[in-house]
Amino acid sequence: MKTLVFLEDHEGKLQKDSLGVLSKAASLDSEVEAVLLGADVEGLAGEAARYGAKRVHVMEDVLLAKPLPQPRVDALETLIRAEGFDTVLFAATVLSADIAAALAARLDAGLNWDLTDVVLDDGKLVGKRPALGDSVYIDVGWTSEPRLALIRSGTFEPAESGGEADVVRFESRLQDFSLAAEMVEQAHEESEGPSIEDADVIVAGGRGLGSPENFALVEELAKALGGAVAATRAVVDAGWYPYAAQVGQTGKTVSPKLYVACGISGAIQHKVGMQSSGLIVAINKDPNAPIFEYADLGVVGDLHEIVPKLTELVRARRAA
Ligand SMILES: Cc1cc2nc3c(=O)[nH]c(=O)nc-3n(C[C@H](O)[C@H](O)[C@H](O)COP(=O)(O)OP(=O)(O)OC[C@H]3O[C@@H](n4cnc5c(N)ncnc54)[C@H](O)[C@@H]3O)c2cc1C
Repeated sequence: MKTLVFLEDHEGKLQKDSLGVLSKAASLDSEVEAVLLGADVEGLAGEAARYGAKRVHVMEDVLLAKPLPQPRVDALETLIRAEGFDTVLFAATVLSADIAAALAARLDAGLNWDLTDVVLDDGKLVGKRPALGDSVYIDVGWTSEPRLALIRSGTFEPAESGGEADVVRFESRLQDFSLAAEMVEQAHEESEGPSIEDADVIVAGGRGLGSPENFALVEELAKALGGAVAATRAVVDAGWYPYAAQVGQTGKTVSPKLYVACGISGAIQHKVGMQSSGLIVAINKDPNAPIFEYADLGVVGDLHEIVPKLTELVRARRAA
């Protein structure tokens, strides 16, 4: 197996999910290699080495400064053909999904996406993927090489394994048509506290909150616990909270130490995004709500009474 992991960087740091995929790849292929593309990224190679990369390929070019997919597809095509990688793994992001899809077309390669695990079975790479609304997990494979895969966000935790890596610079011609797209504007939402992907504590709100204003209850509790706020699809679709906070099948997969679900029924599509949380606490007025089937601690009652009291208690404990 000759494996390459595409590492995405954001504001001068390697993205956590990329490092998670690299750590997993290192556990399957002790000679795993990584690639960094950007205007000024060589300084990140040491971090890649700490998470298992034995060799880090670097291409620096001002034309790679903006997070646009097509120039990256050119660079990856050059590298993969030159080095003969048979497996190329990506942590799923909007950028990586664009790159992986275009690269699959360029290389006439198979791309499996939304994988939640990759294992070796008799020396053969097998992907695990949810299907039928995440109700079953199926094995998927590839019929040709290179094998391309996008791993679902939040699937693998980065694990430091120490070590050093050879840093190898490479160059690639960037096609004219790949440079035709221009990034006109880039914006990101400012939010306080940790993001739901990184938070140890998440307080999530569902339709049981009753109105968008009541998200303040969830926000206050999250603030008191030093955590982040998440939401169900029902409230995101209703415009009560931004999509970036959605947890579940069509949102993010999270695995905090503590997940407090307020007014959430616990539908399977929500469960798949948070079931690997350390401790799940559910507050719901319906004792038959499905979330109680998998919550570690269930509180049956009205969240409008319970959540503010809980916030008060947490604040008092913290102040003591
Ligand atoms: C293809 C597909 C993809 C989907 N993807 C996602 C996804 O990514 N994420 C996601 O979350 N959902 C997803 N869904 C939707 C999912 O099926 C559910 O509809 C959704 O999760 C329900 O959200 P909810 O729990 O906020 O609302 P509801 O199901 O309406 O539950 C509200 C809960 O609040 C409780 N409640 C009401 N008032 C109070 C009160 N005062 N105090 C305490 N409890 C109260 C009720 O008892 C109820 O259990 C998807 C569905 C489909 C078909």
